[in-house]
Amino acid sequence: MGKEPLKTVIIGSGPAGYTAAIYAARANLNPVLYTGREPGGQLMITTDVENFPGYPEGIMGPQMMEDLRQQAERFGTAIKYELVDRVDFSGEVKRIFTESGEEIPAHSVIISTGASARWLGIESEQRLANKGVSACAVCDGFFYRGKDVAIVGAGDSACEEALYLSNLCPTVHMLVRRDEMRASAIMQERVLKQENIQVHWNTETEEILGDAEVTGVRRAQQPDPMR
Ligand SMILES: Cc1cc2nc3c(=O)[nH]c(=O)nc-3n(C[C@H](O)[C@H](O)[C@H](O)COP(=O)(O)OP(=O)(O)OC[C@H]3O[C@@H](n4cnc5c(N)ncnc54)[C@H](O)[C@@H]3O)c2cc1C
Repeated sequence: MGKEPLKTVIIGSGPAGYTAAIYAARANLNPVLYTGREPGGQLMITTDVENFPGYPEGIMGPQMMEDLRQQAERFGTAIKYELVDRVDFSGEVKRIFTESGEEIPAHSVIISTGASARWLGIESEQRLANKGVSACAVCDGFFYRGKDVAIVGAGDSACEEALYLSNLCPTVHMLVRRDEMRASAIMQERVLKQENIQVHWNTETEEILGDAEVTGVRRAQQPDPMR
């Protein structure tokens, strides 16, 4: 006979996963939560979180995630420090396969696998993370109000971040690798219309400058293929 299906499996241990776990546990749904490779999720790599209601002084990301984990465990969430490799949702009972080869049947599965920021992968970016280098304008824009900022990228996310920052910062420099953007036409149009967003075409970001904090960016200008 196969295993008895679990009532609820949660995949992911970021704020969404732990929140789901708190609600599911309190509703007697006996959640089992799989953390994946980043227990605590993206907020484990940040310092101050200032926009979460209920923390007037702000809170350190790792501390917040530790609090959420404890809150989820307090109501009986079982936490498994493992990665879910594969799922099969074709039958009425869902099946989850973990990296260690276990097969878990479950009546319901909550997927909260989040996202991860796409970094440039240069040394100066890591060195200056949380010292002026950020992967989230809505999270960190407030710290840079009144200052000039640079955004690397040309997709929809980059455009959205640029527009958000254009309300807080005098000039937003957008460093675009090619002579065109990947963003949707409407997002490009909004960016190009915004007077304080300056787009630098054919521009590769070579290094982020600064010691204690970011002071600028060194870029390499690519030859313009149109000329
Ligand atoms: C440097 C940095 C600073 C930030 N600062 C702020 C801030 O100040 N304020 C703010 O509001 N937001 C901030 N954010 C954004 C915030 O971290 C995310 O919005 C939030 O973490 C998303 O939560 P989540 O639960 O959806 O997913 P995530 O936090 O992305 O967590 C995803 C989880 O899923 C797990 N997972 C993925 N795949 C699998 C799998 N196959 N099996 C099992 N588990 C899996 C991972 O291990 C991880 O635990 C910041 C992000 C970064 C990178």
